[in-house]
Formats: sequence, C-alpha cells, structure tokens
Amino acid sequence: MSFNVIQYENLPEDLERRLQEHCRVTRFDSLNPAQGEPFVSALADAHGLIGVNQEVGAELLDLAPNLRVASTISVGYDHFDVAELTGRGVMLMHTPEVLTETTADMIFTLILCTARRAAELHEMTRQGLWQAAVGAEHFGRDVHGKTLGIVGLGRIGTAVARRGRLGFNMNILYHNRTRSVEAEKQIGARYCSLDELLADSDFVCLVVPLSDQTRKLISREELGKMKPEAYLINGGRGPVVDEQALIEALENGVIAGAGLDVYEQEPLPTDSPLLRLANAVTLPHIGSATHETRYAMAELAVDNLLAALQDRSTRNCVNPEVVG
Ligand code: NAP
Repeated sequence: MSFNVIQYENLPEDLERRLQEHCRVTRFDSLNPAQGEPFVSALADAHGLIGVNQEVGAELLDLAPNLRVASTISVGYDHFDVAELTGRGVMLMHTPEVLTETTADMIFTLILCTARRAAELHEMTRQGLWQAAVGAEHFGRDVHGKTLGIVGLGRIGTAVARRGRLGFNMNILYHNRTRSVEAEKQIGARYCSLDELLADSDFVCLVVPLSDQTRKLISREELGKMKPEAYLINGGRGPVVDEQALIEALENGVIAGAGLDVYEQEPLPTDSPLLRLANAVTLPHIGSATHETRYAMAELAVDNLLAALQDRSTRNCVNPEVVG
C-alpha cells in the first residue's frame, strides 16, 4: 500500500473499507496538532487527507511535507487556504453536484417556512396556544407569484430558481459576477445589479461561496435597501451576512424575516438573539444533511481522493493547475 491517509471524519463502513483496501488509513477526530505526537507524526507521513470542517492553512501544511491531496466532504472549501495548497502542489478535491438538489430543497423549505411562519406557528400549537381560529396577527405572506432574487446563481442557486419558477410561478432575478446566458434561457432568470435585486425581491436568497469578496456582502446598508416586507434567506455561508446588522434589521422591522441555515459562528451560540426572534427561522446547517446525499458526498470524496492519489485525476479538483 503506497499511500498514507489521515481520515478526520466518520465514513460509512463500506467506504471506509474501500479506502483501507488502497491506503494505510489513520483515524483522528480533528486536524488539531495539539492532539499529540501520534497525529503530528502521521501528518508528517501523510499523502492524503479526507474529512470536513477543519481549517487547513500554512501552519498545518508545514507539518505535512508529503501531502499530495486533500479531499473535503463538501462543495464549499472556504476552510482551506487554497493559495497555500496550490503553492505546495497539493490538490484540493471537493464534492459538487451530488448535494445540489438536496440543498436546494432545504433552501426552499426556508423560503416557505419563513413566509408562512411555519416554525413559529407550529410552536404556538404545541404550547396549547391555538385557542381560536387564527387572525391577521398570525398571517404570513404568499410565496407563489412573488419575486425571488438569487445572489449566486450557480449549481444550487439555479436549482432553487427552477423550483421557484416552475413550482411557484415566481419571477427570478439573479446577481453573479458573470451573467449566465444558459440560466437566463432555461429558467427565464433576469440578471441585475445587487442593488436592484435587493430593492425588487420579495425573497433575497444567498447561495454564494464565502470568499474575501463575499464576506459581509450583506450588511446594514444592503439590508436597508430591501423592502420591509421582504425576507432574507441564507443557504450559503454565515459570514456572507453581517449577523449583528441582520439581528438589528429583524428587531426593527427593516425586513420581514430571515431563514437561516448558516451562521458566523457554528454551532450557533445558545445566547444568540436570533434564537429569540419570532421572525427568524434557524436551521442547524442541514443543507446537504439527508442519508442519501451524505452517503453520496462521502462516496465522491473517497473516489476523488483515490483518483487524485493514484492517477492525478483533476475531476472535482479546485486547483487543477497543480497538476502538470
Ligand atoms: P457554484 O456552482 O460555484 O455557485 C456559486 C455561484 O456564486 C456562482 O454562480 C458564482 O458566479 C457566484 N459568485 C461567486 N462569487 C460571487 C461574488 N463575489 N458576487 C456574486 N456572485 C458570486 O457553487 P454551488 O455548488 O452552487 O455552492 C454554492 C455555495 O453554497 C458553496 O460554496 C457553499 O458555501 C454553500 N453550500 C451550503 C450548504 C449548506 O449546507 N447550507 C450546502 C452546500 C453548499 P460568478 O463566479 O459568476 O460570480
């Protein structure tokens, strides 16, 4: 067996066995060097890493001189310093496509749940407070026929837009750095500036990756440009939104509500004001969290790792320029 691999996330048993058939696998709970000498010495010999949700930067890479491939069980890779990996010739593999539809389902759940106040009213029923037919104070807002603005019309954004267009007869606006003529044709989406999207959308839906450009893309000023009856939905990454500014906007009625799957700090601290706000729906980062999709992601991450280690395959490689 020619490859040493550090596995830092649980894998389904059959996939773990497959990995072990091809590699010498050492299992750790994290990539924190403070966990001790056995980890540091395994890292020094490691050719591959497989796992998710751990920061990988220069400090860690200094301890991994033999590393050739890092395989993350996620499509997002903001927890990796890609420039550092590329500079050292380390391939970074991720899992696009297999989670697209599942994540779009969850984002649409947030749209419906937020507009129809489903979580809040479910809680009211459970607490025995449903004593008479609901009145205007419990009414939500329609979703069908409204304007859905997607910031980040990529794989997942397009799948959300398709649900909105075909299932709910919504008008679709989108904002990317580059126009997607294909998406415009397929789902009748209209390209516009971020300002225009914020001003005209009933649902502003964020599905951009986290980067230097998108960090705090939505802050106090941007929230102020939204309609007071509009909702902000974040299914991308928490730090894309200035969370304190969002809390204030929700408290002061600047916008009607927010549906969130991701946060600046995860898990969301139990004293977060978001948890007290009736107009915020807070899911625990479950975009891809179904049995089927989490298995498919793990399978693809194992495939990616083996193909990159064995054949330098660049399929699903974030930095293919390191090869050749
Ligand atoms: P994708 O296909 O790469 O789509 C990303 C889109 O964002 C592209 O259309 C891109 O278009 C746009 N974009 C990037 N930077 C931008 C900027 N500065 N301003 C405006 N638009 C920008 O990725 P995906 O597979 O749809 O995934 C998107 C993100 O969703 C992931 O990176 C991950 O962070 C998040 N995600 C979350 C969950 C969850 O559990 N909640 C699950 C899966 C993924 P341009 O390049 O033309 O700008």
